[in-house]
Amino acid sequence: MRTLFRNAYCWSAGKEIFDGLLIENDIIVAVGDQALASDFDEVIDLDGAFVIPAFLDGHAHPIFAGREAAGPKINGLSSLEEILKEVKNFAEKNPTMPWIIGGAYEAAIIEAGAFDAHWLDSVVFDRPVVLHAVDHHTIWVNSEALKRAKINEKTPDPSGGTIARRPDGSPQGTLREPNAIQLILNCAPPDSINSDVEAIKRACSAYLDAGVTAAIDSWVEKDMAQAYLAAAQSGDLTIAMNLSFLATPTTWREKVTEFNSFRSEFASLPNPDLVLANSIKFLADGALSAGTAALIDPYLDNPDSHGIKIWADKELLDAVTTFDALGYQVHIHAIGDAAVKQALDVIEAMMKINPHWDRRPVIVHAQLISDEDLPRFNALGVIANIQPLWCYLDPMNKELILPRLGKTRNDRQYRLRTLIDTGATIAFGSDWPVTSEVPLLALAVPVNRLAPGVHSEDSWNISEAITMEESLTFYTANAAYQLFRESERSSLKVGMKADFLTLNRNPFETPPHEVASISIKSVYQNGEKI
Ligand SMILES: [Zn+2]
Repeated sequence: MRTLFRNAYCWSAGKEIFDGLLIENDIIVAVGDQALASDFDEVIDLDGAFVIPAFLDGHAHPIFAGREAAGPKINGLSSLEEILKEVKNFAEKNPTMPWIIGGAYEAAIIEAGAFDAHWLDSVVFDRPVVLHAVDHHTIWVNSEALKRAKINEKTPDPSGGTIARRPDGSPQGTLREPNAIQLILNCAPPDSINSDVEAIKRACSAYLDAGVTAAIDSWVEKDMAQAYLAAAQSGDLTIAMNLSFLATPTTWREKVTEFNSFRSEFASLPNPDLVLANSIKFLADGALSAGTAALIDPYLDNPDSHGIKIWADKELLDAVTTFDALGYQVHIHAIGDAAVKQALDVIEAMMKINPHWDRRPVIVHAQLISDEDLPRFNALGVIANIQPLWCYLDPMNKELILPRLGKTRNDRQYRLRTLIDTGATIAFGSDWPVTSEVPLLALAVPVNRLAPGVHSEDSWNISEAITMEESLTFYTANAAYQLFRESERSSLKVGMKADFLTLNRNPFETPPHEVASISIKSVYQNGEKI
């Protein structure tokens, strides 16, 4: 069956805009004039639509997003009252749910992000409530959750994490970084494989609505890998997925065998390209908003602190070298300039130990990079995975990060133009559910360095702006390269999977502040409209 799509403006990275796409089954077999001149069985008139390849998400947490969507919906609420109201309503509607877990609240609405357990107690006191902050490095809990986790004034801060305290030393209700968060979540009933398969289904459907047909889950633990396996076997996983297994300083050595056996299980599925379980996630530091990102110079608001390095250099090098030798891509979360330097140092040292291969290491976020480290991305072949929706002066930057960094350093975040000028490869990722999974919402943000939909002269560091062509390329071709899917779905070229979107407007001819309101007319996956 050959279908010709015509009367369209087709864009593909690095190419002129053309009309004509010929699809045979699920593959593009001709484009442009050649497509228009070919024989076909069916023709579809796209009525002048703008056509782009489907998006790929190079950094995200689909299961977390799907789990969060099952709890109270507090995303985007801008006051404490609204959040408490939603939690109260949710609790009333779900009287038998033993723990209420949801997200994600905007920490910047309360000074220093110090949320109090008593506020949640006023709406739910009889069972634990745990809410994730938008940075997903922080939780806010009620007193019952603290009680179940036996956290009191005598509980010390865990290594790499903090428990916010009242003047008398008792816990206030805000906990920061995974080691502190786990003190609470370890007491919650574990998510079952079935509930995680439901989370995967919710995530896939949100992704397809947003025009994303391939993504990565960049924090995968054993139970989640089992859920992906079940979802892949049952047909509930409806987009292509890469998995990045979480390695931690204390557990990575014993996890090697587990990751290897998952990798072979996914590779032996009938459709081995559906899930590429080929990446390992390392957290080098925390987040700037929480004062836990690792900085070369100390924090302005706390001159004794350079933030937190989660790994000792030697241990990180051992781990990265071990997994690289086994053919895994490394995917290192590094936000502060000291963490980015550590990640680059470790990758450089690893490359001297292990033989050369097409390894495509990834540093994700790379929010603050010291000048001398900028050219090292290109020199070492490290992909910078950046979140386009973060590239403006958002409330978190203004209220929480600026006071910790000072203006000069704050303004040196997200130096996309400078990175591109050094020759570095940038790929985009949403970091969903930290920020929205919808690429069209994000595309123009790094182009005019303003919030989606905002029209203003007041761009944040416009000298670091990129073009719309670059933005689209980073969310399609470059993300495909990062995910080792470039031969399959990076562009509208012959031989690629027929995954594409028709848009109601041409993003190149739309004013940047209107790009976020471009709508997807239809999503084609494997040549079929969904
Ligand atoms: Zn992330």
